[in-house]
Amino acid sequence: MKSTKELINQHLIELCDVIGARPTGSEENKAAVHYAAEVFDKLGFEVALQEFPCMDWKNEGASLIVDGEEVEVSAAEYSLPCDVSGELVCLETIDDLKSADLHNKIAVIYGELCKEPLMPKNFTFWNPEEHKEIIRQLEEKNPLAIIAVSFLADVPVPIIQDGDFEIPCATVKGDLLNTFLNSKDVSLKLHTERIPSVAANVIATYGAGAQKISFSAHIDTKPTTPGALDNGSGVATLLALAEKVAGKEFPYRIEFSLFNGEDYYSIPGEVVYMSSYLSHPEEYICAFNVDGVGMKDSNISYSFYECPEELEKKIDGFAADMSDIEKIDPWPMGDHMIYASAGVPAIAITATNIFSLMESVLHTSADSLTIIDVDGIVKTVDFLYGCM
Ligand SMILES: [Zn+2]
Repeated sequence: MKSTKELINQHLIELCDVIGARPTGSEENKAAVHYAAEVFDKLGFEVALQEFPCMDWKNEGASLIVDGEEVEVSAAEYSLPCDVSGELVCLETIDDLKSADLHNKIAVIYGELCKEPLMPKNFTFWNPEEHKEIIRQLEEKNPLAIIAVSFLADVPVPIIQDGDFEIPCATVKGDLLNTFLNSKDVSLKLHTERIPSVAANVIATYGAGAQKISFSAHIDTKPTTPGALDNGSGVATLLALAEKVAGKEFPYRIEFSLFNGEDYYSIPGEVVYMSSYLSHPEEYICAFNVDGVGMKDSNISYSFYECPEELEKKIDGFAADMSDIEKIDPWPMGDHMIYASAGVPAIAITATNIFSLMESVLHTSADSLTIIDVDGIVKTVDFLYGCM
């Protein structure tokens, strides 16, 4: 029989090296779902694939010519394709946008309009009026295409990533702003495609009992990354934990949920789970969400959401018996929030130092197995098992 460490290694290699990037809707994502479902199935769990429609977004590159010179550009994720040429109009503020005529023109947005990623238009959980106003104005003015000039020089920050937005969008690095400000005409080609597809959450259930403890991790990645820390590590944690649980008896059911869509613009897997399983919040004792564990040179952290004091004390007690596990302040982003918003006591498990990797490593090719410490994942499995 394989050790927990060997199992985790096997799962990580399959997910991150053999399969690689596994964005929701892609064939690779289906392969990851199939792999995980088979692991649960072989352990004797009851496995349900909760399907939902989505798109498989293909990106075959982009080109941008400014006043006859080719410059670096990338298609914004989920963008429609385009092949357009025209006069460019540079817009810095919402007032610039409101007063602009963008008919048959290409809009370049920068400054205030690009200070942060704009929430997708149908994303209802959190969507500031300021974002909605920019999107509404852009739709009304309907330019041929939009080029977003992101602030950071090296890593283009995605400003619009929205499969429900019908104007083609591209992203360029911040140091190109002057080129645009001094130019008149551009040609933009985006070789992208939105292909209707289907994806699925994997829900595996073990044991019997009126109530359940839930463990979740998202199985999808951004299209641009093997997603080792985010979140092959979380999936490997759950698959290895399932192996420990199999054959044992518990006074409650155990549910393993692999969500498909945490890194997809409209979190479709989470939405179908919320409207089905989470419409019975009384069935949950608590829910642990694992995202980004086993980071080299980092402790494992946990944080509480809507947890009763008794549960917090119990978990603090388990953590106190282990090294390298610490409590951090709550952070209101990620799949633990879907439980908390339904009133289910939730615990988020992640690497304490993950926040330092947000812009430079996560969602890039650098999030590979080289940044993973498998012993940290073994420890996470032991911690979660101890909490049961
Ligand atoms: Zn994640």
